[in-house]
Amino acid sequence: MVTLIRHATLLDGRGGEPLPDAAVLVDEERIAWIGPSAAAPSSEGGHVLDASGHWLLPGLINCHVHLCNDGAADLFGQVLEDSVPIATVRAVRNLRLALEAGVTTVRDCGAANQIAIELAKAVDTGLIEGPRILAAGRVVTMTGGHGHFIGREADGPDEVRKAVRAEIKGGAHFIKVMATGGVLTPGVDPSQTAFQEEELRAAAEEAHKSGRVIAAHAIGNQGIKNALRAGIDSIEHGFYLDEEAIELALKQNATMVPTLIAVDQIVRNGPQGGIPDWVVRKAVSESGHHRESFVAAVRSGMRIAAGTDAGTPFNPHGDLALELAKMVEFGLPPSAAVVAATSAAARLLGVADRVGSLEVGKQADLLLVAGDPLTDIGVLSQPRLVMRAGRIYRNELAAPAA
Ligand SMILES: [Zn+2]
Repeated sequence: MVTLIRHATLLDGRGGEPLPDAAVLVDEERIAWIGPSAAAPSSEGGHVLDASGHWLLPGLINCHVHLCNDGAADLFGQVLEDSVPIATVRAVRNLRLALEAGVTTVRDCGAANQIAIELAKAVDTGLIEGPRILAAGRVVTMTGGHGHFIGREADGPDEVRKAVRAEIKGGAHFIKVMATGGVLTPGVDPSQTAFQEEELRAAAEEAHKSGRVIAAHAIGNQGIKNALRAGIDSIEHGFYLDEEAIELALKQNATMVPTLIAVDQIVRNGPQGGIPDWVVRKAVSESGHHRESFVAAVRSGMRIAAGTDAGTPFNPHGDLALELAKMVEFGLPPSAAVVAATSAAARLLGVADRVGSLEVGKQADLLLVAGDPLTDIGVLSQPRLVMRAGRIYRNELAAPAA
């Protein structure tokens, strides 16, 4: 099956200048040709879409989601209550929401019972529809540490090493560790240091030995530095970056995944929305710091990739455009926000050879929006066409005249 999309303004996802009146030829699951519409090859027998007035960009990548949660006010309660089948059904519904919102790749940063790992296979084989999934499996955390209710507890470098090996054996595509406490686990403070540097180093060594990326949930300053010194690839949240932490991150090309909307939604919806008091209290004390930290990261030129922490209270799947709008509000140029959700995200996830930019030979993951995201990032919240691997999942373009 061949599809030709013509007359779009093309953003390649690598931060280059927009290409006006561009065409993209999709052959089966790949991009076969890109260039000016006037020079487009024949697509005889194929499907031709007129994208006049639309902007074409790579399908978006959300680097931080929790597929088994859907934004319920009480996440902790939902995880404890859900049976495996219910959590799985929730995840299937969330995948569909994300895909319809233009997200063609997600990274699941922690789900119980290997659900996300198994669903990745279900998407790959076409059993269900969704973005392609990279899954961490269970998070690795200290005894009683953040996320222990969806995680594997381990203490000391040897146990941590073994836990990481077990996750890899179980099919994890990448490793997620907890370097600090967090907002959504009762009894732990978000900025408290969790794993020690030696524990994190053992985890990073094991992940890297097997060719996998490792992400650290890290909110407090000491935890962020421990993670960076240990060689972790991405700092998730990163609310307390300082100059020293940024220097470490720059030196080793570590990426920040700021998840700005996660805390905002908790603060905005509060106890009146049904969020437990202990969660709101922690979020309120952290909000403000995430802005400062993010602004410092942007100024320094630190690598930034987009992730929403979808699944946390009032943070449903499909709201990646909101996160990008927040990044722009906090000072990231819109073109860099697009890069954060496309090529920079793909690079962090280790899939830049396949997705994250519009280039010949790559997977045909495409998104069409009815406006210029560089002047109004908000247009990304209303995709008009979503294609993943050459297949169209949403199409609101006007039908061609007969
Ligand atoms: Zn998370």
